[in-house]
Amino acid sequence: MKKHNFSAGPAILPASVLQKAGNAVHDLNGIGLSILEISHRSPEFVEILDRSVQLVKDLYQLSDDYAVLFLTGGASSQFFMSAMNLLDPSAKAAYLDTGSWSSKAIKEAKLFGDIEVLASSKDKNYNYIPKGFDVPEDISYLHLTSNNTIFGTQYHSLPDTKAPLVCDMSSDIFSRNIDVDRYGLIYAGAQKNMGPAGTTLVIVRKDLLGKVNREIPTMLNYETHIKKNSSFNTPPVYPIFVSMLTLEWVAEMGGLDAMEKHNREKAQLMYDAIDRNPLFEGVAEKEDRSWMNATFVMKYENLEKEFLDDCNAAGISGVKGHRSVGGFRASIYNAMPIDSIKVLIDVMDDFAQTHA
Ligand SMILES: *Cc1c(COP(=O)(O)O)cnc(C)c1O
Repeated sequence: MKKHNFSAGPAILPASVLQKAGNAVHDLNGIGLSILEISHRSPEFVEILDRSVQLVKDLYQLSDDYAVLFLTGGASSQFFMSAMNLLDPSAKAAYLDTGSWSSKAIKEAKLFGDIEVLASSKDKNYNYIPKGFDVPEDISYLHLTSNNTIFGTQYHSLPDTKAPLVCDMSSDIFSRNIDVDRYGLIYAGAQKNMGPAGTTLVIVRKDLLGKVNREIPTMLNYETHIKKNSSFNTPPVYPIFVSMLTLEWVAEMGGLDAMEKHNREKAQLMYDAIDRNPLFEGVAEKEDRSWMNATFVMKYENLEKEFLDDCNAAGISGVKGHRSVGGFRASIYNAMPIDSIKVLIDVMDDFAQTHA
């Protein structure tokens, strides 16, 4: 039986995407070859890549000022690649520290220029999004992590600055509408909300590139990948293909408006259940709660294991919290059906009744 998959990542994909991805492993669109055994220069793959780029452009309504790349190395490589390409050794960038991923981004960026950390929520184990800080004017960019996968917080409004934003959107890419013009660079590992592990989406404003006074290795230079349409070397063919299928699904579902509405409803349902249930407690500050990862704890820690056993018996997978937060985390990405959330809520309610 197919489980209710609440994994934080690699994470749930739409059932129709899995079906098509499986078929293409045997035979891609009836060409008599598997997607796994064709050249990345073949017309079939070039079409897949072009279509993937076009879907990203259409969904975010990107102007030609932006380039769309499918790279490798994960979001973690973007921590240094973004700074290497955008931050001159003599210049400054501002960062916001809202969790483990932001901290890692800060550590890497410090190799390339002056980094000012404007605010951090580390004092409360990252359970909120800092507000009320000033953003200096003399910065090349402001970096933020839009959704903090581990801690369950998310920006619901953007900091006030004229500087371009550089944003790690790994865990909420394509989950809602964004004011795309404010971003200079967006990056996201595919495996949370866009596809399988193995490719990283980069959306970059082209005029920000080519301005830093340093040598950049060919493979780490965004301009290389723009010139070669993400095919300077062999791109991750299958992860790109499955990402394309997922983006097609997003478009078919009605695009970002529909995703946002759906995700808002799902998150509301999940948090309402947490708030009214006497045994559970939300981790993140209410106004900063993530629509993608709902973190919560059991008021009586000794019951945690029993609750996870009940989840398991109901076919629920992946709700154990990250070790740095404890408790539980329900990752309810785009592809998570509302019915699976209802199954989890029923288990929570039943558990509270038997332990009242
Ligand atoms: C998972 C995650 C990462 C790490 O992604 P990799 O592709 O494994 O490098 C970075 N940032 C955020 C917000 C994440 O959720």
